[in-house]
Amino acid sequence: MHEISLVRTIFRTLEDEFPADMDRVRGIYLKAGLLANVQPILMQNAFQAVVADEPRYQQTSLHVEVLPILIRCDDCGETTQVEQYRFICTCGKPSRNVIQGEELLISKVEFDD
Ligand SMILES: [Zn+2]
Repeated sequence: MHEISLVRTIFRTLEDEFPADMDRVRGIYLKAGLLANVQPILMQNAFQAVVADEPRYQQTSLHVEVLPILIRCDDCGETTQVEQYRFICTCGKPSRNVIQGEELLISKVEFDD
């Protein structure tokens, strides 16, 4: 399951970044673009499965914010939010110039004091 390995990668990344603070992690916040192939519900299920084996993360929760797809038109320069996977600028020109929607990043980590 793709999400399980994603969740594990997120924990490994944080463990590398905050080796002394991982017992205090309470909230992990992700931003996932619609094109990043990350389903929030599947991420939550994977997260529950991973923390079930990790006693020190029992009080940690995952928050996933899904970001819409934005394209910038090469023709008129407008930024347009893609709906229903229609990669078309408001001016009518098709565009594949994605400026948001492919990312998967950790946007915030909360620690208990
Ligand atoms: Zn345009």
